[in-house]
Amino acid sequence: RLKEGKALAQDVWSIFAAANLPADCINLGQGYMNFAPPKWVTKAAEEALNSVAPNHYSHPRGRIRLREAIKAFYGPQLNRDLDVESEILVTSGANEGQYSVFTAFLEQGDEVIMFEPFFDQYLPSVTFNGGKPVYVPLHPPKDSKLKSSSNEWAIDFDELRRAITPRTKMIIVNTPHNPVGKVFTKQELEGIASIAEEFNLLVMSDEVYDCLVFDGKEHVRIANLPGMWDRTVTVCSAGKAFAATGWRIGWLIAPAYIIQPTLAASTRIVFCSNSPLQEAAATGLEQAKERKFFETQLAEYAERRQILCDAFDQLGLKYTMPEGSYFILLDISKVKFPDDYPFPQSVLGRGRDFRACWFIAVEVGVSSIPVSEFYCEEHANIGEAYARFAFCKDVDTLKAAVERLYRLK
Ligand code: GLN
Repeated sequence: RLKEGKALAQDVWSIFAAANLPADCINLGQGYMNFAPPKWVTKAAEEALNSVAPNHYSHPRGRIRLREAIKAFYGPQLNRDLDVESEILVTSGANEGQYSVFTAFLEQGDEVIMFEPFFDQYLPSVTFNGGKPVYVPLHPPKDSKLKSSSNEWAIDFDELRRAITPRTKMIIVNTPHNPVGKVFTKQELEGIASIAEEFNLLVMSDEVYDCLVFDGKEHVRIANLPGMWDRTVTVCSAGKAFAATGWRIGWLIAPAYIIQPTLAASTRIVFCSNSPLQEAAATGLEQAKERKFFETQLAEYAERRQILCDAFDQLGLKYTMPEGSYFILLDISKVKFPDDYPFPQSVLGRGRDFRACWFIAVEVGVSSIPVSEFYCEEHANIGEAYARFAFCKDVDTLKAAVERLYRLK
């Protein structure tokens, strides 16, 4: 008998995979780059592949050079002398890291609070481990102005409080947020922190877009707030940092009592992560500062963001300007398409946004991701108003996409 439910339904990434869409469709869907990692990083990968040790199993905690590089890079940001033997775990992407934390900590029926919309992997990662997701809305801006900021997506702290039960074990924070682009303010994080302390909750802080915070806004790490180190796992990603989403290298930073059982889980799930690419990620972190890599990269992303936002402004389309991440939410509730359009089975039976995004991909030639995927089934209708466009693409591609998006007018 097959299991049922959203956790095992076909995922949005495989439905909107480039291979399913017309070959000339411009892909602003799944968040991966159409450019390579920096040469000085791929050169380090090549060197690792051409030597012996990094072609073999790493220590399940991660290769020591990468753990040392993580310590040197994040230690000052977290105001801590991180212990490479007990407070850092290299994982097969941020996703596996988070999965392993759930495996290590969730008991049947434990509740995990997540702000909705939420990055879609959280739901199956929690339920596969016996947990129960509990959703707290980020409320979209109410007024009807065309351009709003991601910071207008608001948390109602009374609602957050009401979501807590004796079974609540953990809360997931995601800043910068996928898909909204919201950068949680220090005040918002303090509000979450005080609730986490009051109810003795663990905090999973997914910060994979930490290097993409625009307009001089501050990326606040909740682990840095008073008392929070002891209950927080900070989740990071080499894929986002170095334009290498297929490497599947990420890392967790947390106190030893969190890392230890998570390491045990991770060891049983993947044993260890891709070894040669850990060496390359180490080079990336070691050299980023002197090369001003993250500063340059951020400026490039700011330009990419501007290209799409300018086009949406000119077209008079309603959208959310992201303060962080590489995603923009476009209101597609007014996009019309014929009901009898030849949609594939995979998008029929899903939200209206699946059909709208499919139609835009095929007829306009630009793919995006339907946002109802980032909502639970019960609230999917809220997400149906939006499509998520990724701007982690080179300038020429974004300009070509913009030319086509004029057809949405
Ligand atoms: N993080 C990527 C995105 O949001 C997708 C990751 C995945 O495919 N699971 O586009």
